[in-house]
Amino acid sequence: MNGHFAAAGNGSAAQNYEHGIQVVDEDKAFNTNLNDYLTETHVAEAGFNYHLISVFGSQSTGKSTLLNHLFGTEFSVMSESERRQTTKGIWMSKNKREGPSNGGTKMADNILVMDVEGTDGRERGEDQDFERKSALFALATSEVLIVNIWEHQVGLYQGANMGLLKTVFEVNLQLFLKDKQSQTRSLLFFVIRDHIGHTPLSNLRNTLIQDLTKIWSSISKPQGLENSKIEDYFDFAFAALPHKILQPEKFVAEVDNLGARFTTGHRSTKDQEFVGGVFLPEYHRRIPADGLSVYAEGVWDQIVNNKDLDLPTQQELLAQFRCDEIAREVLVAFDTIIVPLEEQQAEATRLGKATVLPDLGATGAGARERCMKAFETQASRYHKGVYTMKRGELEAKIDARLKTLYQGQLSAAHKAGVNAFSDAVTGAVKAGQKAGGSYEFAEIVEKQKAKTLEIFKKEAQGLSIPGVAWSNFKPQYRLFEKELDEVSARLRKEEMRRLAIRVERWVKSRLGDAIGLEFNKLGSGRGGTGAPETGELPPTEKDLWDRVWTVFLGIVSEAESRFTDRAKSFEASEEEVQVGLWRLRRKSWVALRERIEEEVMESNILMKLRENFEDKFRYDEEGVPRIWRPTDDIKGIYNKSKESTLELIPLLSRFRLAETYAPPDLPGFIGPQPAGAEPEDEEDLPPIGGVDEEDGKSLEEEMTVLSESKRQDLVVRFKKMADAVYVEATRSTISGISQ
Ligand code: GDP
Ligand code: MG
Repeated sequence: MNGHFAAAGNGSAAQNYEHGIQVVDEDKAFNTNLNDYLTETHVAEAGFNYHLISVFGSQSTGKSTLLNHLFGTEFSVMSESERRQTTKGIWMSKNKREGPSNGGTKMADNILVMDVEGTDGRERGEDQDFERKSALFALATSEVLIVNIWEHQVGLYQGANMGLLKTVFEVNLQLFLKDKQSQTRSLLFFVIRDHIGHTPLSNLRNTLIQDLTKIWSSISKPQGLENSKIEDYFDFAFAALPHKILQPEKFVAEVDNLGARFTTGHRSTKDQEFVGGVFLPEYHRRIPADGLSVYAEGVWDQIVNNKDLDLPTQQELLAQFRCDEIAREVLVAFDTIIVPLEEQQAEATRLGKATVLPDLGATGAGARERCMKAFETQASRYHKGVYTMKRGELEAKIDARLKTLYQGQLSAAHKAGVNAFSDAVTGAVKAGQKAGGSYEFAEIVEKQKAKTLEIFKKEAQGLSIPGVAWSNFKPQYRLFEKELDEVSARLRKEEMRRLAIRVERWVKSRLGDAIGLEFNKLGSGRGGTGAPETGELPPTEKDLWDRVWTVFLGIVSEAESRFTDRAKSFEASEEEVQVGLWRLRRKSWVALRERIEEEVMESNILMKLRENFEDKFRYDEEGVPRIWRPTDDIKGIYNKSKESTLELIPLLSRFRLAETYAPPDLPGFIGPQPAGAEPEDEEDLPPIGGVDEEDGKSLEEEMTVLSESKRQDLVVRFKKMADAVYVEATRSTISGISQ
């Protein structure tokens, strides 16, 4: 044995820990590799299923020899020839006797044995310090304390062993002063060596108990514990072993019997007697095996620095340390699953993509559950208060991560859902238009909305964790639904616009035909020149505007009912319909104005006037073409016809109804702007005189078809043209004469 910390070597671990591990060395330094050893020997994973035994006794009383025989350990023993101290500090080894003993009893699992440096004036001079410290350490950690004693020492009250026991009792009281509530008991297991057999074990036992009671009464007890009895803290067990060298076979057989007692046991509920082996649950220090090294180190640190050993505080510190450590460990597994998802989401966000991660709810909840379960399994063995707090911290940490992830997921689902909805509705409308325009907008919206909502709902429900308040995503669902309604409203508005455009086109095309027809009637002046005495225009000409207005009203009214029916079918609001109709009337009026302007374009109107004139000039009242004779009053007819046609010009110049000789009630027709109209509803609407007052243009101006200058110009051109017709007519008469 090299005496150095075992794990520091390069050899295999099994070799390194051949002799166990030196927990505390001769310089009182604690070995930080203890946990390695516990991991190596699989004790660390055992939870509470392990046991700790320490051995005490004078130096060279065969302690190490006993442990090696009992537990198959390889603590070094003093060689027969050199009688010098071997065990230094405190050593620990795991029981290597795995199988059942001769008697067929299997020892308890995971027994850790501590071989404590012998106490004897000879081993450390007069240094009682280490003795006290190691006793305190052993008591704070061990369930069973083996007191190794020669038979001939029994009853020697002043012997070295008794001094040690006094120390043990004193430090024990000191411990319990701080840790009253846990009341951990220990077993003092006396193993009497070189038992010759003359004195029965029961006698030796009585003697020892008397001595122990004497020692107990002699120690000074702290305040409040003056009347405490030794049995309040300790149980006792006894065994005797024959001389190892003189009776080697008997020795081995008895050691084997002794080994059979290192099994778990309990107190009978009837008479409180032990049943089974020496390991009673009440002896256990309840330090989880994976925290044992940290706990032991903390305890030793307190002891070595002569601080008051406060085990409850040590246990809390241990719990904090271990719970943090366990939390870090379980988070590694959580991160393995969650970090890639977080990265994927961050990347999608960076690229502005609405990526919905598949199965996120199941994955997240699974990772959360496994993480918390793993933590609970390991950490719940530690101090309850600390554990509960740390569990809360871990859960908060995990949930904060999941919450961010889930909210990101839902905002992606929200975005993707809104896009999908908008695309689906637009697509269905397009398909409907392609298929001839028979589609029900409201139905499309309803169907797509239900479909999109269902997808979102499934996602939100998938993310919800039962019993976890933050994972209720109803508000997000409602927000999503609200946005779909907003999108629907926008799409409906677009649909309204499309409808309006269709209806406006229809109005234009109807106006094109109908108005053209009315103006064409001007071309035929065959109705004659009107009442001869009044010179009034014939009815077909006089009531031109009345007819135009009536036709216009008819078309618009039909368009209005088409628009209303269709808009109602996709659940447009009354307000929206009113705005649409108002726009339609304005647009229709503008279309009518354009149509009229087209009719009165110079070339068109001149042709119509010419036709009108020629019809009046060339045909008689019965509509029969005139054959000019020299006797005919060509000039008179010419003048009359010309005057009659000229009268058309002022008529054409202004849109006036015959009866009232006033413009039609355009403002009344268009009506006031409806309440629901928004600024963008007016953007594409040119101002209308007399309707949009702020524009400054009057109704009179709006109704002016031909300006004054155009009128005069038209008169001049028409006259020239009429003159030409007249000249031609007179010439034909002359030529008729000459023929
Ligand atoms: P420790 O210092 O208490 O650990 O004692 P050791 O186990 O190193 O043994 C000290 C010496 O006692 C060694 O020389 C052993 O051979 C011897 N020894 C061991 N067991 C017995 C025993 O049962 N009886 C006697 N008489 N000697 C023993
Ligand atoms: Mg020894």
